[in-house]
Amino acid sequence: MAGTAASQGSYLGSKVVVTHRYCAAKFPKPVKLPAGVSQERARLIRETANKWMNGSTIRYWFFDKPAKYVGAASQKEVVRKAFAQWKALGIGLHFQEVASRDRADVRIAFMDGDGSWSYIGTDVLTRRADPRTMNFGWSLTDDPAEGADTALHEIGHTLGFPHEHQNPFAGIVWNEKAVYAALAGDPNFWSKSTTFHNILEKIQPDKVQGSRWDPNSVMHYPFEPGLILKPVKYRKGLKPAGGLSARDREWALTFYPGTVPATLPQLTPFETVPISVSSGQQTDFAFKPIQTRDYEFRTFGDADSIMALYSKRGVGAKPLAQEDDSGHEHNAHLKTHLKAGEEYVLRLRVRYAKPAAPAAVMVW
Ligand SMILES: [Zn+2]
Repeated sequence: MAGTAASQGSYLGSKVVVTHRYCAAKFPKPVKLPAGVSQERARLIRETANKWMNGSTIRYWFFDKPAKYVGAASQKEVVRKAFAQWKALGIGLHFQEVASRDRADVRIAFMDGDGSWSYIGTDVLTRRADPRTMNFGWSLTDDPAEGADTALHEIGHTLGFPHEHQNPFAGIVWNEKAVYAALAGDPNFWSKSTTFHNILEKIQPDKVQGSRWDPNSVMHYPFEPGLILKPVKYRKGLKPAGGLSARDREWALTFYPGTVPATLPQLTPFETVPISVSSGQQTDFAFKPIQTRDYEFRTFGDADSIMALYSKRGVGAKPLAQEDDSGHEHNAHLKTHLKAGEEYVLRLRVRYAKPAAPAAVMVW
């Protein structure tokens, strides 16, 4: 024990210099669930928080003005490659670069000195005064390996993934004083609250994906010696392997599986269709109205699900209508005006499936 105290003391006594520039992600406020929701149900609902509907096309756009947001061609290329790397994992999401801001879900700027950050998953669709949903605040090409990882990391946030070093199962004990002091200085200049929310704060255990810590995740920061006290082997620093880890791939494919059926089951008015997927999974249906009128879609049973309707012509990330009944006793219900002959896709992500309880969906 004496040895532990001594080595701890030597770290506490020396000033730690951080040379890495870190991402300062914009985390949404945790969703408040009604009282009485069981711990397991809450855990499963939170696990799918801010995840996109699989099969969506996420459209991204690089600012062409104002000048402070515009990136050089070499910088944009790093980001394009990072989107392609996530896609190459075999996920069911699609990425498309668009030339106009109006058509984009993800708006990417390269404002120097403003940090690198992204909003989390579907939270990018929330309207805000700041038109950016992602920013790169330093060159992605000065250190090509680190730049590539920064782009992968920010896109990971856009896909709905949190910070891995904040995983409570990591059991990291920080030298908090050294972390605050190091991050307050060059090159990050973070406030105490930014440092707390991006490094020290542990994610609620029921919000973590799985129970294993992955120090090689692209969602994990590298840490210089002197910031981590425990596990002891990381006192000398922690450097993730770089690139997407095996577990990054595993989780990406869990929420966004690449195996999408070639033809979807058709919905017919007034006929219920069973929903036979487990918690976290998604099931899709096709619907082609024969009359132009208002239609209603509703789920039945005890499952918590998010239900969204898309026009097949432009299956993007933004639904025509959407409802999420998670944590509540009522069922998801949509009412919307549809056109005869048009093709629509109804996507249902079951956030919590009550064991052995039947669930179904119907249109009328
Ligand atoms: Zn981050």
